[in-house]
Amino acid sequence: MTLWRSLRSIPSWIVPLCAGVVVLLLPVLGLDFSTGRQIQLACILALLVSGLNLSHGYAGELALGQAAMYAAGAYTAGLLSKAGHTDILLQFVLAAAVALVVGLVSGIPGLRLGGWSLAMTSFFLVLLVPDILAVFAEWTGGRNGLSGVMPPTLLGADLAGDAYYWVVAGVTLAWFAIMRNLIVSRHGVAFRVLKKSPVLASSMGISVFRMKLLAYAVGAVPAGLAGALFVNLDLYVSPEAFGFVTAVTVLAASILGGSASVYGALLGAAIMQFGPNQASEFQEYALVFTGVFLIAGGVLLKGGLAGLCRRLVSRLDRAAGVTTAARNVSADVPDIAGATLAIDGVSKTFGGNQALKGVSLAARPGKVTALIGPNGSGKTTLLNMVCGFYRTDSGTITIGDTALQGLPPHRVARAGVARTFQTPNIPEGVTVLEAVSSGRYSGHRASVFSAILRLPGFRRVRTDDLVEAERALALVGMSDLRDAEATSLPLGMRRLLEVARALAARPGVLLLDEVASGLDEDEVERLAGLVRRIREAGGTIVLVEHNFRLVLDLADEIVVLAHGSVIATGPPEVIERNPRVLSEYLGIDGESAEGRAKVAELTGGGEITGTGESA
Ligand code: ADP
Ligand code: MG
Repeated sequence: MTLWRSLRSIPSWIVPLCAGVVVLLLPVLGLDFSTGRQIQLACILALLVSGLNLSHGYAGELALGQAAMYAAGAYTAGLLSKAGHTDILLQFVLAAAVALVVGLVSGIPGLRLGGWSLAMTSFFLVLLVPDILAVFAEWTGGRNGLSGVMPPTLLGADLAGDAYYWVVAGVTLAWFAIMRNLIVSRHGVAFRVLKKSPVLASSMGISVFRMKLLAYAVGAVPAGLAGALFVNLDLYVSPEAFGFVTAVTVLAASILGGSASVYGALLGAAIMQFGPNQASEFQEYALVFTGVFLIAGGVLLKGGLAGLCRRLVSRLDRAAGVTTAARNVSADVPDIAGATLAIDGVSKTFGGNQALKGVSLAARPGKVTALIGPNGSGKTTLLNMVCGFYRTDSGTITIGDTALQGLPPHRVARAGVARTFQTPNIPEGVTVLEAVSSGRYSGHRASVFSAILRLPGFRRVRTDDLVEAERALALVGMSDLRDAEATSLPLGMRRLLEVARALAARPGVLLLDEVASGLDEDEVERLAGLVRRIREAGGTIVLVEHNFRLVLDLADEIVVLAHGSVIATGPPEVIERNPRVLSEYLGIDGESAEGRAKVAELTGGGEITGTGESA
């Protein structure tokens, strides 16, 4: 166990790097030709799989276009070679660029249409590959394939035998280093946020379309490289290499290795290459074998082999008592530049159901504005209107001087609106700290390029991300959970995590939807203290809450909704005596002695939910 502890103190990227170096050294240790070839094919497959993992495993968009991008890369490199441009670097650049274009051309319409469109368009593209190649048979050789490809060179030197092996293994190693850097960066976390929920992503200022396109397009690069590597391996390609079987093999390797993992692509590809692809019978029953692997990976292994490894590591961690010390950070609320949120005459009808009728309210900096009302009175709908998820039928919503109505959700978020959800929305496969720091994604930028190369700009943003996230976590009293898997938290902690995530964005307006429900007394206390401190720091808070006592306790102003209309607005001491509120919202006759006793009881303690007039 002490051995395990010391192993765990080694940075996690050392292990794959060592494995990569071993693979690079194999020819020196006497690698036979056919194994060498298999390893190269496995590397090529791994590159393809890693592209799929990026768009499907991380960003949550199933796209099977890898085979088509692979073909684009292979034919580009092959044609260049035939034209005398045998330099492999030039071929890499152009093959990746053409694959990227194929990715964009198929990705943009597919993603614009949403839903399953990208899966369909990309799949269609794969089916189309042989036909496209046949149409241009004069150059591509059509169904006979492209022959006459010249042996590759690198800066004038011939690349034969071992030298080419090193190129293949080196490119694979380099790509996986890039992929790893991307995934552990803030962009990788943003991909997982997107996979969890596009609603969540856009409420954090992430443009869903651009992010999905980014994942799909970046995934085109390794496919293009794989194509260039493949054509130079045999100096020949035919359309069969890029068909349906290839697409399914890539999918099976992805699922088997674990689609939401970086190195799982290598595992899955190695197993598919050295397993079924070896058997000569495989060619005939390829789809059957692949299907079996797909099902085995999908059904028996949650998260594929990579998921299995992760569970093993965390079990060993628990057994060995591996913990990471919480850092000492101040739990002060930073100064928050609160903004005024003004909602004026907002109406919304769903079908025949008028959910909001001319609602107006103003939430000001340094104040808690509570929104209360029975279930179905339109509270969540109003928050969704502010956030841009629904369009207003009429009325205006502004934050400071910026009009929000009509803006898409990610623009609203960037204008300074952050929120929590009635049902907490927590991405999978990230730590608590990463989940909190993701709140800063859109407000502070560092390009994908700088993340991959770890440029100073990226490092600076990352340091700030961590500091701010640690601070937000300390504020909600969860510093000791920073390295826990975010989805492993119980409900109460998830709610606090959402508050921390929203706070990390330093929002102008903070919208909290039923944030206290499901919290135990201790957590409610912690939350109440936090809300007070955010108010003192100058934040603007809109609190949708059922706990009447908490509302009376925290709110500076209360807005009461019933059937989509505001029936009362005022400070707590006025609202708690308003007969209309008591009867509509609480179902109490405020005039009777019995009613007054009930009010005293309610305002003195206990949680209530709107009883009388629930829709
Ligand atoms: P609250 O949060 O106050 O409990 P909601 O805002 O969730 O209430 O709902 C208000 C009303 O709007 C309800 O009648 C609900 O059925 C309706 N509503 C909310 N969202 C939609 C939607 N997307 N489509 C149709 N009706 C909706
Ligand atoms: Mg609600």
